[in-house]
Amino acid sequence: MPVNPLVTIGDDALDRLLEFCKAQDRRRLVLVADRNTYRVLGESVDQGLRHAGFDVITVVLGGEEVVADAHAVMQVLLAYDATERTFIAVGSGTITDITRFVSHRTRNAFISMPTAPSVDGFASVGAPLIVGGVKNTYKTHAPIAIFADLPTLANAPRAMIAAGFGDMIGKYTSLADWQIGRLLWDEPYDVAIADGTRRALQICIDNADTIAAASPEGIRSLMEGLIESGIQMLAFGSSHAASGTEHHYSHFWEMKLLWEKRPALLHGAKVGVAATEVAKLYAAIRNISRDDLAQILDRAGMPKREEGIERIRAAFGPDMADEIVAIQKRFLNMDEADFEQLTRRIWEHWDEIQTIARQVPEAQQIAGWLRAAGGPTTVDELGLSKEELVLAATNGHYLRDRFTSRKLLHYLGLDAVATGGGAQSIRA
Ligand SMILES: [Zn+2]
Repeated sequence: MPVNPLVTIGDDALDRLLEFCKAQDRRRLVLVADRNTYRVLGESVDQGLRHAGFDVITVVLGGEEVVADAHAVMQVLLAYDATERTFIAVGSGTITDITRFVSHRTRNAFISMPTAPSVDGFASVGAPLIVGGVKNTYKTHAPIAIFADLPTLANAPRAMIAAGFGDMIGKYTSLADWQIGRLLWDEPYDVAIADGTRRALQICIDNADTIAAASPEGIRSLMEGLIESGIQMLAFGSSHAASGTEHHYSHFWEMKLLWEKRPALLHGAKVGVAATEVAKLYAAIRNISRDDLAQILDRAGMPKREEGIERIRAAFGPDMADEIVAIQKRFLNMDEADFEQLTRRIWEHWDEIQTIARQVPEAQQIAGWLRAAGGPTTVDELGLSKEELVLAATNGHYLRDRFTSRKLLHYLGLDAVATGGGAQSIRA
């Protein structure tokens, strides 16, 4: 079981950091920031540490937009002197991921000082990095402590606060997907982890107004929710609770933007918009009565392996297709007996699936919360096209080996519901 990081959210993050480093005798440090995060918090932390007599190597990553890639990793490595030092990441997700990776690979601990409540990954062990144009998540380690400075977080750009809120709103659909995966596909499940993640989500929903106003209480609630969600992932050892179909859409868009060398979009902004779209899938599932289901199951045939592989090749191209096919092997290798068992389970558990689907708010409600927080609510507002929404709905689910609401529609022969055919196609 991993040790949870010490978490402090307050007005005195620097003092708490100094106390912590003194108490633990962590005298030698590497502070990593980018120009922005150095200006808003890193500089005062740097000066505070030096003033208190700490030995600090400071790395301020340059460039307009810092990306968690091989170049950034190299920049930090070049500044590092190969002695035992504790790393301090002053920044949001990107800086934290770069620092998480370098500190892990140099066998040093790291401390996180978030500068924006933008993502739930601060406490995570995964470092998503772009290497050779491809994004992969590398297993590293969690921070030993998180010192969140409330005034800095509350002054973060509105779009980043809204993105953090979007990442949390996505838990409605990820938690529902996880329950469906457990019922129909024996996905590993843990009630306490699901409850903990739901509590983290509820903190944010209960405080949606103050988060939208970016008041200190609101930002504290959002940060608590984000960190708690991350700690639940850490405890479970995977992102099941916090990442479902909405994250698969988001990962797909992220990859596509990367391929096309277009500017990246905030993770939580994509997740929030995707959550409104996945809420529509749940609305469609709620509309399927037992009578409808009987007809649907009568019509549904086992998807053909070759067709699945063909679709993956068409969507991801020859370079990535083999990797995606490998990820999807449990689905692609399904035989008639497996399919029969799956459809039987769907029939037997339909009432529970309906109960799960009722936990997901209407798309309009989710969009309302996002709008109030100042985040995008449609692909259009996000800067993506309708076609890119259809592509994510068609292909996003191939990116992970998980049974979700989207997979359920796939095996019911209702892909068209997800990809824009609408509810009519249920009874076609
Ligand atoms: Zn996320």
